[in-house]
Amino acid sequence: MTTLCSMTTYDSSAVSAYAVPSSGAPLERTTITRRPVGDHDVLIEIKFSGICHSDIHQAREGWGESIFPMVPGHEIAGIVTEVGPGVTKFAVGDRAGVGCMIDSCRECANCLAGNEQFCLDRSVGTYNDLDKKGEPTLGGYASHIVVDEAFTLRIPDGLPLDTAAPLLCAGITLYSPLAGQGTGPGKKVAVVGLGGLGHMGVKLAHAMGAEVTVLSQSLRKRDDGLRLGADHFYATSDPATFEELAGTFDLIVSTVSAPLPLDDYIGLLRAGGALVNVGAPEAPVSLNLLSLINGNKGLIGSNIGGIRQTQEMLDFCAEHGIGAEIELIGADRINEAYERVLTSDVRYRFVIDAATV
Ligand SMILES: [Zn+2]
Ligand SMILES: [Zn+2]
Repeated sequence: MTTLCSMTTYDSSAVSAYAVPSSGAPLERTTITRRPVGDHDVLIEIKFSGICHSDIHQAREGWGESIFPMVPGHEIAGIVTEVGPGVTKFAVGDRAGVGCMIDSCRECANCLAGNEQFCLDRSVGTYNDLDKKGEPTLGGYASHIVVDEAFTLRIPDGLPLDTAAPLLCAGITLYSPLAGQGTGPGKKVAVVGLGGLGHMGVKLAHAMGAEVTVLSQSLRKRDDGLRLGADHFYATSDPATFEELAGTFDLIVSTVSAPLPLDDYIGLLRAGGALVNVGAPEAPVSLNLLSLINGNKGLIGSNIGGIRQTQEMLDFCAEHGIGAEIELIGADRINEAYERVLTSDVRYRFVIDAATV
């Protein structure tokens, strides 16, 4: 009898992957071992895997010590090909996604509130981390991954898997602050930076019904911004922008990791407005607190979103036909893609075709 199963045979001790062998070294094709499919695990045949800027930070130890060899990748979309006996949410053949985390304590106040990424014990990263048994976690630049169903997302039928993959990190990173700050009709929202994160912010804020402005260094990407759903597009290199837009926005989401002149940007908020930062500058930034005091303004950080909200985001994207703008590449081009991400030479997310891994 034939079963509706994977086209390729699966050997848990010989899973194809691309790994970074040591800090800063180029990625190389290799094989890795995945854990056996446990009671509550699903085995996913990966179809597409996005390249996130944080993959590069970690491969090059830009954020501190990493674990090598490293298989990066936390924007994973694929098909379930096996389920453990205790799995209730997934069946073989289901479309599934995995984002930035694969485990947490599940019982602390933050986990119970649906913010597993802030687990008071610790959330386990999809790669460059140790799982609860102390084994290094290996991410999505691979043919397969084994993940607990509690940290596996459903990718709705309406979403193509390739453009859905980046939603698992870039999408939720923008959806969470936009939804959390009440983005909707009548609200004026600015997105700072039109890259992998920013372009998702424009699409999502537009779909939520807000009036959307892109604040970009130059007008170079203006046509793209307007096509993606922005109503206005301004260059931050032009000082007139900060005069013209003073006191305008209910919400500004900054996606840039370069240090911004925060006081200037806070000056663009109306009274009671908030600036949410999702970019992560490596050095401290300066701020005159009077910028916040004068106008009851908020400065907020935001880091991805919990599992429940990530599912909500995927469902929202399916309903509104939203995916990432991607450049699909073969795995042999990952190293080249890394260099291009560093020079912002991608519109707007590289996605690896996992069939080539
Ligand atoms: Zn990411
Ligand atoms: Zn917890």
